[in-house]
Amino acid sequence: MTGETNPFESLQEQLDDAAAYIDLDDGLLRRLKNPERILETNLTVRMDDGRLETFRAYRSQFNGDRGPYKGGIRYHPDVNRAEVKALSGWMVYKTATVDIPYGGGKGGIVVDPSELSATELERLTRAFTKELRPFVGADKDIPAPDVNTGQREMNWIKNTYETLENTTEPGVVTGKSLDSGGSEGRVEATGRSTMLTAREAFDYLDRDIGDATVAVQGYGNAGAIAARMLAEETGATVVAVSDSSGAIHDPDGFDPADVREHKRDTGSVVGYEGTEELTNEELLTLDVDLLVPAALQNAIDADLAESVQADMIVEAANGPLTPDADDVLTERDVAVLPDILANAGGVTVSYFEWVQNRQRFGWTEARVNDELERVITDAFDGLTEAYETYDVPNFRTAAYIVALKRVIAAHAESGTWP
Ligand code: NAD
Repeated sequence: MTGETNPFESLQEQLDDAAAYIDLDDGLLRRLKNPERILETNLTVRMDDGRLETFRAYRSQFNGDRGPYKGGIRYHPDVNRAEVKALSGWMVYKTATVDIPYGGGKGGIVVDPSELSATELERLTRAFTKELRPFVGADKDIPAPDVNTGQREMNWIKNTYETLENTTEPGVVTGKSLDSGGSEGRVEATGRSTMLTAREAFDYLDRDIGDATVAVQGYGNAGAIAARMLAEETGATVVAVSDSSGAIHDPDGFDPADVREHKRDTGSVVGYEGTEELTNEELLTLDVDLLVPAALQNAIDADLAESVQADMIVEAANGPLTPDADDVLTERDVAVLPDILANAGGVTVSYFEWVQNRQRFGWTEARVNDELERVITDAFDGLTEAYETYDVPNFRTAAYIVALKRVIAAHAESGTWP
């Protein structure tokens, strides 16, 4: 990871790039580049040994012109204000790219969750929810999982909110387990939209995805499921994957589901039978047809981008390329399918979960997957239409044009108040 690139500046550059193609007032652009509000708080939690510990936490509500703020909560030692702001902005333009009726938000706690017990994590999550309570709600701001949070944390958030509000309101948070009001298909949704985006992009570029070789960086929820679906549903050959302990490679390919079992048993993808070990940098520069970055942001900087040999990058992670890397890859004619489309499956099925919670009526997994496929393929068509109409240099700018136009339209229709 390059680490030095400020993700908030990356977001602002991406918006400037797209704004150059549309007629947009400077004052409005400034509003669309900055969050509406940010909660910064210090959570005091009693640890198992009786000590009190303090954790810095954030929630950024970036823009609510198209609906309630929506976005995940991340637990990671590197969480910071700039990152949370950027991630919340990307949510605005992601929900607009796939045209679901939400704004964008994001939250995070500065913590290494592997150093806390389950009971400490529960108290930490409940302490954050107590702070968030005035700001969140099914019609205000709806958190979801992100890095190092999942169904367990979402169930705790729901329970804390409902207890404090003395009500039942499962739609206050998405990504819950099925028994707590979650949706079928939510766990697989981000990997599924990554696969669908790759499938559509290969088709658009007149290439056969069934012949493609794939490398995936990051083997968590997004990466491992994208790898499995690419192999199972498109026939692509996954030849390399990585996690924070290193990368594995077999030019003949392997079964991604089996690698996941190996990671479950041993804690890492490294050491999987029949593979050679690579560094993460070697994985990112492998000669493959498709590269899927699915770890954290800024994984590829301009220097590394010069060495990328893949023909296509589908971003499962949020912000995995620095803006300079993006420029290099555009120059080198590498097709980059942006995060705000490729990983939008997570928030789309979160939206379906919220709809089901409000209807108090559950959908089948087949219905969820069909609706998700419709949303992603429609969004892909909108993106390629903008790509051709505006004659932009890359797919990311096309996606931001589509998204900005939708947010601007909602803003214009609402008027300015006061
Ligand atoms: P996760 O915690 O389940 O998995 C992250 C994976 O990345 C782990 O396998 C970890 O070992 C690996 N990793 C960490 N640092 C690495 C490094 N330096 N090199 C290689 N691998 C590394 O998280 P996730 O939910 O899969 O999220 C991954 C990315 O996808 C994030 O950018 C997240 O914002 C984005 N995303 C996730 C979802 C979702 O629904 N899970 C939705 C949209 C976007």
